[in-house]
Amino acid sequence: MRVILIGPPGAGKGTQAARIREKREIAHISTGDILRENVRNATALGIEAKSFMEAGRLVPDELIISMIKVRLSAIETAKGFILDGFPRTLRQAEALDVLLDGMSLCLDAVLLLEITDDGVVRRLSNRRVCRLCNAIYNVVTRLPMKEGVCDACGGEIIQRDDDKESVIRDRLAVYHERTAPLVEYYDGKGLLYRIDGAGQPDTAEARLESLEAAKG
Ligand code: AMP
Repeated sequence: MRVILIGPPGAGKGTQAARIREKREIAHISTGDILRENVRNATALGIEAKSFMEAGRLVPDELIISMIKVRLSAIETAKGFILDGFPRTLRQAEALDVLLDGMSLCLDAVLLLEITDDGVVRRLSNRRVCRLCNAIYNVVTRLPMKEGVCDACGGEIIQRDDDKESVIRDRLAVYHERTAPLVEYYDGKGLLYRIDGAGQPDTAEARLESLEAAKG
């Protein structure tokens, strides 16, 4: 399956992608994770992206598109992939179409995780992540076994700078302006499936299973 997960920040894209990946040999490409790794390693891309990310703004399309080109060419695309956090603008979506066309591949589904703005603010201000492996925790619903320490890798658990409330509001505004138009774009192609982002963490996985069954 070649799948895109879209939805506002905090809709659960990372969590849902991890569930989907657990059951399949499928690459998970999260542009946010790749960018954060670049910032951590102070690469040229990371240095350029950092100020946009800290302000809750989108990193320029050209940087993201060339980053995705490199990633897609490095994986076995035929086996399938989950794109998490990409595309985020119409220009990125169109560039992805061209890239996939060039590889004679098409998308199977675009899963839209829906959640209200207040739901996003509540969830993101409670979110914590592992600095090393990006595992996701929540101060209310998912605490690590040892305070401040990641269960999976022992890394330090932190709050992302862009998960502070003022930045969350900015990220939401960016989502509504730049990313929400993708809903219509993919709906028009008959690829869009709506999922309740406030519901259970494996709803995307369940939806994908039924799509796979329908495709045989
Ligand atoms: P995320 O972890 O997906 O919420 O992404 C964190 C931040 O990385 C976003 O707020 C953006 O600044 C940047 N980012 C991630 N993916 C993209 C993308 N496809 N286009 C532009 N900026 C992105």
